[in-house]
Amino acid sequence: MAKKSCVDPTCARYEMSQLEFRRLRGELWDMGFISKFGKLASKLYRGIYKKHPDIKRRPLPGQKRWPVHRYPCGILEQAYRQLREQGVPLVKPKSALEVELALKQRERWMVLEHEWIRAWRADEG
Ligand SMILES: [Zn+2]
Repeated sequence: MAKKSCVDPTCARYEMSQLEFRRLRGELWDMGFISKFGKLASKLYRGIYKKHPDIKRRPLPGQKRWPVHRYPCGILEQAYRQLREQGVPLVKPKSALEVELALKQRERWMVLEHEWIRAWRADEG
């Protein structure tokens, strides 16, 4: 799938789920963002298409999960832009996920630092 930016909210070149959209961006979102994003996408959809995006359909026999809703790409792009413009964080500061990400980042730094020190010592002979 070509990476393109859908400025027009009515763009429907692709349809994808929230999850697919997030994966394309390569980002992590917390539950707060996911929930706001879903609500806004659904609202934008109703505004443009004059119908509810949710098909209240039970999982087919043998399927465990409810069908995932798919939105036109323009709707997803628009919802994302609006939330970011409102300053909604992808991951809430001080949340468990944020702390976990910060720790991972710190670990990565410590590994790098260790490597620098080793390289520096090796240089010194
Ligand atoms: Zn599009």
